[in-house]
Amino acid sequence: MNLVNETEKYIFSTYKRFPIVLVKGKGSRVWDQDGKEYLDFVSGLAVCSLGHCHPKVVEAIEVQAKNLLHVSNLFHTKPQIELARLLVENSFADKVFFCNSGAEANEGAIKLSRKYMRDKKEDRFEIIAMRNSFHGRTLATITATGQEKFKEGFDPLMPGFTHVPFDNMDAVQRAVTEKTTAIMVEPIQGEGGVNCPSDSYLKELRAFCDEKKLLLIFDEIQVGLGRTGKLFAYEHYGITPDIMTLAKALAGGLPIGALLARDEIAKSFIPGTHASTFGGNPLVTAAGIAAFTALKDPALLGNCSSMGAYFMDELNQLKKKHPVIREVRGKGLIIAMELTMPGAEIVNKCLQKGVLINCVQNNVLRFLPPLIVTKEEVDHVVALLDEVLTS
Ligand SMILES: *Cc1c(COP(=O)(O)O)cnc(C)c1O
Repeated sequence: MNLVNETEKYIFSTYKRFPIVLVKGKGSRVWDQDGKEYLDFVSGLAVCSLGHCHPKVVEAIEVQAKNLLHVSNLFHTKPQIELARLLVENSFADKVFFCNSGAEANEGAIKLSRKYMRDKKEDRFEIIAMRNSFHGRTLATITATGQEKFKEGFDPLMPGFTHVPFDNMDAVQRAVTEKTTAIMVEPIQGEGGVNCPSDSYLKELRAFCDEKKLLLIFDEIQVGLGRTGKLFAYEHYGITPDIMTLAKALAGGLPIGALLARDEIAKSFIPGTHASTFGGNPLVTAAGIAAFTALKDPALLGNCSSMGAYFMDELNQLKKKHPVIREVRGKGLIIAMELTMPGAEIVNKCLQKGVLINCVQNNVLRFLPPLIVTKEEVDHVVALLDEVLTS
């Protein structure tokens, strides 16, 4: 029996997988079990932003694995403290809570925003989230997610969430009630199709939250950590959120999530109120120190901005030639090419030709190359897209 059939036999069929078995990765490339090479513009869905098997991350894992893999959070560990210090020193936040995934970080953010209001003796618990958003697969995070397809069959969902159109201040103003505690938003929607807000939107949201004394929660799980050309997406807009969630790229390929907040808010989580057995485990946070240190390198962020701008220009050139391309959008190296037709066939053709790309929302090709991507690699993918769209 081949491995693809064994997946069907032994693993829940929650994913539609491509029929290749990957065995090795290095930089922006991966190889399958037959030795075929692929240029990877999926990057483990924005996890492998440093490229595959970044040497500093691998080394940190090797060193830490020989010393200490895990102890409980009943004790202090150096890697966890060090990664928290790095995150605090490089962001708006004063405190960090570590967990194991994006959904878990968002669960923490939702719980924290409720607890904060309860501590202030305010009976407020509602969260305003955005249509087309994506926040994870737990019950609270599918409820926060603004797409019906993730909720079907799982009701009753969590009480206390309302949804408004993204990038629309009037809708937010209409949705707020005396029960509202927070507004939860991805600064750029990833899974929802790489939707970038107008320049003033997040600033206006910030001002509105200040006026109404609401918490502003940024889910930067996909667009944080260098993906947009700045370390955090909020830096583009001259504002800071009150709570921010991170995950994906933070530990260079190991599972991690993080919840960040200012002291005044973080202090609502006291001993016993929230926890995670594996959260901030020494192995994962040692990898996180190496990954975060590499991700905040201005040269890497500069490459992300310049390659992102170049890639978008090239895709806009393609748009002139291929009417099937409706729009090119993005920031840094999260880029979408929206088509007037389904994208699955193009993704399959690219895979056959050794390039991995991804399609969301049925007709939006999403490109998430590693931030180390080169001009030659971008040229290669653009030439292949041109060829595939021509045929
Ligand atoms: C991926 C993602 C999540 C969920 O992260 P998991 O680690 O899969 O739980 C949440 N929010 C955003 C914006 C994401 O892109």
